[in-house]
Amino acid sequence: MNMKQYPIAKPYLTKAEEKGVLAVLRSGVLSIGPRLVEFEKAFAQIIGTKFACAVSSGTAGLHLAMIAAGIKSGDEVITSPFSFIASANCILYVGAKPVFVDIDPLTYNLDPSKIETAITKKTKAILVVHIFGQPADMTVITRIAKQHGLKIIEDACESINAEQRGKKVGTFGEAAVFAFYPNKQITTGEGGMLVTNNRQIHALCLSLRNQGRAANMQWLDYQVMGYNYRMTEISAALGISQLAKLDQMIKQRQTIAGWYSWYLEPYRDLLQAPRTAAGNTHTWFVYVVTLKHPGINRDKIIAALAQHGVSSKSYLPSIHLFSFYKKRFGYKSGDFPVAEKISRSALALPFYLSLKKKDIRHIVKVLIRTIKSYGKSV
Ligand SMILES: *Cc1c(COP(=O)(O)O)cnc(C)c1O
Repeated sequence: MNMKQYPIAKPYLTKAEEKGVLAVLRSGVLSIGPRLVEFEKAFAQIIGTKFACAVSSGTAGLHLAMIAAGIKSGDEVITSPFSFIASANCILYVGAKPVFVDIDPLTYNLDPSKIETAITKKTKAILVVHIFGQPADMTVITRIAKQHGLKIIEDACESINAEQRGKKVGTFGEAAVFAFYPNKQITTGEGGMLVTNNRQIHALCLSLRNQGRAANMQWLDYQVMGYNYRMTEISAALGISQLAKLDQMIKQRQTIAGWYSWYLEPYRDLLQAPRTAAGNTHTWFVYVVTLKHPGINRDKIIAALAQHGVSSKSYLPSIHLFSFYKKRFGYKSGDFPVAEKISRSALALPFYLSLKKKDIRHIVKVLIRTIKSYGKSV
């Protein structure tokens, strides 16, 4: 059968990326070269921070952000259970404890009204995740952090160029991290970027990503225990090409999200389309709907959609219910009811730049037909 296949995500790569990578290969300089610096400069300028430090993944960047914030064994860091696991694991990497707080049912980001009861003497920071491309409520979170003397670190891995009241994510905290895995808004294959306005943090991260080596390379000294979290020149070249069309790519994502919401609008009784909070600019990492029928079998829906060439995914499971988090911290079902409810009913749909309006119409048609037939039988 020659049916059109719709994956969940797909990178948008053009001749510019091919040329950029080929130039790196021909130059013979595959790591620690001019593209890295060029990519960092361009990135910092776009986000509006003084400094940017490219790393080998978003996860590596989050690890360095935790070290740079001075988080260590015995400390607690408040964060969201509704995220990709790396935003909680990075707290474990430095021996600290992730303390989860339930989420806002509208944006799926940290619910600021629940943060203060989670603060203890051990709390050092709030690791804010901007999930799916939409900023968390930074006005209130910033106020709480100030009142309690807590640092803010942003996991902006899913939300490049998103804004809240005209201010870009990545500029609210002491440091922020972006990621460039192939399903993100821009890709370098693997890669990440730590941005900050703090010169010391920047200098420390440059050293930590390069085995802890001192900035002055002739003086071959390792001042701290570091890592190899370097980004290759090949990745940096990809990043430069991708950044050059960032605005255009985000605009197209916003257009595609608009088509989805338009076609889904008549089916509000069956599913909830994503919502954007007032003051937020959404940059659409994924398009996630939640199924409203309480007893509906999501796995069956996913399997049926796949038979029609439409990929979909349960997205995201709550971190506190992963087995090693349950075992280590004693978390259980019911601890964070809003996050758990969204985790049970959320469904990510195909979302990438080459989708046309007629593709979205088709995907929605298949989705609604599937929900209607399965909704009855469960
Ligand atoms: C993608 C992502 C990361 C980092 O991912 P890497 O695969 O390590 O680049 C971290 N946090 C969130 C919320 C993410 O979506």
